[in-house]
Amino acid sequence: MNAPGLPLAALRQVYVTKPWLPPLEAFIPYLEQIWDNRVLTNSGPFHQRFEQALAEHLGVEHLSLFSNGTLALVTALQALRISGEVITTPYSFVATAHSLLWNGIKPVFVDVDPVTLNLDPARIEAAITPQTTAIMPVHCYGRPCDVEAIQRIADIYNLRVIYDAAHAFGVRGTMGNPLDYGDMSALSFHATKVFNTFEGGAIVCRDAKAKTRIDHLKNFGFVDETTVVAPGINGKMNEFSSALGLLQLQHVDEAIRRRREIARAWLAGLADVRGIRCLQAGQLDSTNNGYFPVMVEPEYPIDRDALYQRLKDAGIHPRRYFYPLISEFPMYRGLPSAAPNNLPVATAAARRVLCLPIYPDLEPSVIERACELIAAR
Ligand SMILES: *Cc1c(COP(=O)(O)O)cnc(C)c1O
Repeated sequence: MNAPGLPLAALRQVYVTKPWLPPLEAFIPYLEQIWDNRVLTNSGPFHQRFEQALAEHLGVEHLSLFSNGTLALVTALQALRISGEVITTPYSFVATAHSLLWNGIKPVFVDVDPVTLNLDPARIEAAITPQTTAIMPVHCYGRPCDVEAIQRIADIYNLRVIYDAAHAFGVRGTMGNPLDYGDMSALSFHATKVFNTFEGGAIVCRDAKAKTRIDHLKNFGFVDETTVVAPGINGKMNEFSSALGLLQLQHVDEAIRRRREIARAWLAGLADVRGIRCLQAGQLDSTNNGYFPVMVEPEYPIDRDALYQRLKDAGIHPRRYFYPLISEFPMYRGLPSAAPNNLPVATAAARRVLCLPIYPDLEPSVIERACELIAAR
């Protein structure tokens, strides 16, 4: 397996991401405090501190922590009482559409924009029916959607907008903070994301009343010891994750800065490779560089899957995000909107995009080696 003469770093298996963690010593005092408090969950002191600190960090006013991003999505739909049909993108992680099915909602897939790979606002109107109640776009790879165009459509047709903002931690667009748009946004702090609490998530909403409803829903619907106002779920973040989140906040800006350097190295290394288009080119300063997607164009000598295999054989494991499309999975492919001819841009992207490894301590030698492999004819 290990070809002689390769630098040691290149021989290790390199996956698309490696979770970012603060120094372990720094976490010990937090653990000691949890052990002292003997409050492990249910809006304990770390939950309260982290929720407030995170809202400040993200520049939002109303935020509710969750045990993961999927429950945040499911609960956001519940909180807004969404039903019927929801327009969404097939080019995402399955949890986006799964959150609709868990609410008995029918997903209606609409194609994505060829440049941003986000839900294409120009195609939304044609998919609206009398049953449509909401739009659920995704800020794919952390690049903000055309939030203003989406809101214009939502206003005309009286639709709610719920953003899957799982990739959008700390990003800014030309329109400012994408979390300021839509009725609610759901974030994920899963281990693979730019900012992690092992597992975790949050809903950002517009006012205190909405936050109160979300807080009830994530705690079984309890308002007090004996009053249950809704069929809620258990979506609470525990004290361990909350404490880690509080500590992670001190390091996340530095982690994102280092990701940007890695992205620059990829961009430089791939600049002269014909047929490889870096989708984040020109976006490095506005995105959080959570992903480094490249488009393997038709003029590249081999197809995406062959390139994927070539890198894998060398111990570098990129990911085919997002392949298959959500609309290709068995629980979705029977829907009329799932037909590939309804989704030509997403279908082509799913066949051509490869996400290269990116994380704060990715070694430059890995990028060099990967770029050599990608440039090889
Ligand atoms: C990670 C992710 C989710 C799910 O978040 P979890 O915290 O893993 O439940 C949802 N949508 C998208 C686009 C994601 O990338």
